[in-house]
Amino acid sequence: MNLAKLSSILQTEPKYRFAQVNKAIWQDFISSWQEVSNLPKALREKLEEECPLEIRAELDINKGKNKSVKALITLIDGEAIETVLIRQKDKRNTVCVSSQVGCPLACEFCATGKFGFRRNLSSEEIVEQVVFWARYLKAENKDEKVDNIVFMGMGEPFLNYAEFIKAAKFLNNPETLNIGSRRMSVSTAGITEGIKRLAGEKMQINLAISLHAANDNLRKDLMPIAKKYNLHEILKTVDNYITKTGRRVMFEYLMIKEVNDSDRDALELAKLMRQPLYIVNLIPYNETGRFKSSSRERIEKFKKILEEAGVAVTVRLSFGADITAACGQLRGRKK
Ligand code: SAH
Repeated sequence: MNLAKLSSILQTEPKYRFAQVNKAIWQDFISSWQEVSNLPKALREKLEEECPLEIRAELDINKGKNKSVKALITLIDGEAIETVLIRQKDKRNTVCVSSQVGCPLACEFCATGKFGFRRNLSSEEIVEQVVFWARYLKAENKDEKVDNIVFMGMGEPFLNYAEFIKAAKFLNNPETLNIGSRRMSVSTAGITEGIKRLAGEKMQINLAISLHAANDNLRKDLMPIAKKYNLHEILKTVDNYITKTGRRVMFEYLMIKEVNDSDRDALELAKLMRQPLYIVNLIPYNETGRFKSSSRERIEKFKKILEEAGVAVTVRLSFGADITAACGQLRGRKK
């Protein structure tokens, strides 16, 4: 999809064409200009030529038991990114979008990190991922739509803040997809500049922090970026965010066998999480190489220790694990 020339083409057209075209692309999710029968034929042909709508994507048709689907989208310059549609039982659809091609953070446990960093995505390329799934849902079932967006795919959104927030605002616009900001979540490895900027936005996007360790030494072993942003600094920034916004913040904690899942780790985490608006989300680790995932029983015990210490805690259902579409398994590579 390339709409770079759209506004210049529409400039010589009557004003109402903008609204027609916007509705067609961002609300009716057309995949060909020929579908927009209220546009003159000559204009349709020009748009077909100069503003291609096609999104080059390969679907992972191996649908998992949770009906999550993954797509590999090829961008104009040939780079590829992955995006996931997470289909919940209540017919809610969550789209997980990538914000970068690859990721510069190189976390030890994450497949995207192993792939390296290629470049930032533009806001258009972020939005395009949502449009892809909106078209998919429309083709499949007329009354389902994209309900939630999580900026939790490949990359670190806060190292591409301007394009991330531009995409979020675009998706939120009532004239386009009209997705409520409270239905959007962004996850960061703890880039404090981004947390500060988000606190200053008028939009109420949910914030999640990838914690994964309750002390800096272990965190540095797992996440090289922890050498730049220590826990004290991250939590201080999060507390300021909470003071400013009054919103809850989620702390993601991967459960990795014999790495960060002991009773002692749980107690250490409980100490850090003593803020009423903090909520811990324990994530069963999806194995991508070196590490093993904690057992169900271990996760339950860990959860219990946190609960007994008065910490709000949930366990994430790992949606896409059986199609390697789950968190930390996105590579942007063809099979
Ligand atoms: N860079 C951002 C956005 C990525 S979000 C961040 O770090 O938050 C993806 C989430 O999945 C992060 O919490 C990440 O730590 C987690 N993750 C990475 N590898 C994983 C794996 N193998 N299994 C489960 N979760 C993983």
